[in-house]
Amino acid sequence: MNSNEIKTLAEKVLMKTYGRYDLALARGQGARVYDPEGNEYLDFVSGLAVTSLGHSNPALADIITDQARTLVHVSNLYYTEPQVKLAKVLTENCFADRVFFANSGAEANEAAIKLVRKYSFDKYGLGRHQIITMGNSFHGRTMLTLTATAQTDKHHGFKPLVEGFTYLPFNDLTALEQALSEETCAVMIEPIQGEGGVNEAEAGYLSKLAELCRSRDVLLIFDEIQVGMGRTGAMFAHQLYGVEPDIMTLAKALANGLPIGAALAREEVAQAFGPGTHASTFGGTPLVTAAALYVVEKMLEPGFLDQVKRVGAYFKSRLSDLVTKYDYVKEVRGQGLILGVQLDFPGAEVVAKLINKGFLINCLQEKVLRFLPPLIITEVEVDLLMPVLEETLAAVAAQQEV
Ligand SMILES: *Cc1c(COP(=O)(O)O)cnc(C)c1O
Repeated sequence: MNSNEIKTLAEKVLMKTYGRYDLALARGQGARVYDPEGNEYLDFVSGLAVTSLGHSNPALADIITDQARTLVHVSNLYYTEPQVKLAKVLTENCFADRVFFANSGAEANEAAIKLVRKYSFDKYGLGRHQIITMGNSFHGRTMLTLTATAQTDKHHGFKPLVEGFTYLPFNDLTALEQALSEETCAVMIEPIQGEGGVNEAEAGYLSKLAELCRSRDVLLIFDEIQVGMGRTGAMFAHQLYGVEPDIMTLAKALANGLPIGAALAREEVAQAFGPGTHASTFGGTPLVTAAALYVVEKMLEPGFLDQVKRVGAYFKSRLSDLVTKYDYVKEVRGQGLILGVQLDFPGAEVVAKLINKGFLINCLQEKVLRFLPPLIITEVEVDLLMPVLEETLAAVAAQQEV
């Protein structure tokens, strides 16, 4: 099918949940994707921080193919080797002792939220169920994770939501101190908010928050679905801050595009899930976990994360030059290769114009351009984007003044 045929059919047969860009994609290779007509686009979105090792990674394609010919799925009634190997390498490289596998970010967060409720119930009984989340957070779109997502515009039309959630301003310790009570069982937070606009936790905030939680046996959940898996230049974002949670959730880049989610927890917390308390038919299939195992091992190879740090710092400095040069570029935020540029005008047109020039970026919270290139991106590719971004920003900014 050509691009127009795909788009026309999509308008007829798909639910209208997404405001899609005017672009159909057919193929990818490394940091580049191609439309059905063969036009090339340099990808600074990575399918929303998912294809971190690039598109059509050859080694990964071999692993997926081999595993597809060996064993795709048997359910969690049985043990399989790729699943236990993946859990082993993940737990060896962070605070956690045990893993529950799901199929998406929202499901990983569902598991984490059920786990904290169960832990608290087992230890303290009914009534200690309050979960605190932060303004502008994003935790998913299922009813439970939509409730956890403190963006009220996304709640519109779906009430009643799930009981027991309280929203606090991000980076506000005083508000947290005041809100913690006998009813609180957990705090859930993204170390760097992704969908909320690439907002970083302030130095000291996360460690004080962790201290406060620990002193009251309130469990701390880090949602690293977007910023985990090397995105910030650390394997897991909280390692940048030197603060450990009780539970961490992962998804997006974990299997480089195959659907997976994971909730990881400390032993004492993980014990709250016994047989029959939680489950997923597809969670942690041999196919998906074999792919994820490759991804994790690749990212842990010497030099991989160093490159993310190096290219990320270079990219951030180039973007910061725009702040110095142009009044309408307000701020650059982020770590490693999750970077956000705050504009003083809406960014949608910048994104649309860049597509026409062969670059994929995205825009959120109306005025924030977000860059999530594959982690294999190089300075050379950043240099390809920068002049085009600069001239596009200038053109759109000039229109604003008219
Ligand atoms: C994307 C995302 C989710 C939801 O993941 P899905 O796979 O879309 O359900 C949850 N939390 C964060 C921080 C995310 O970026």
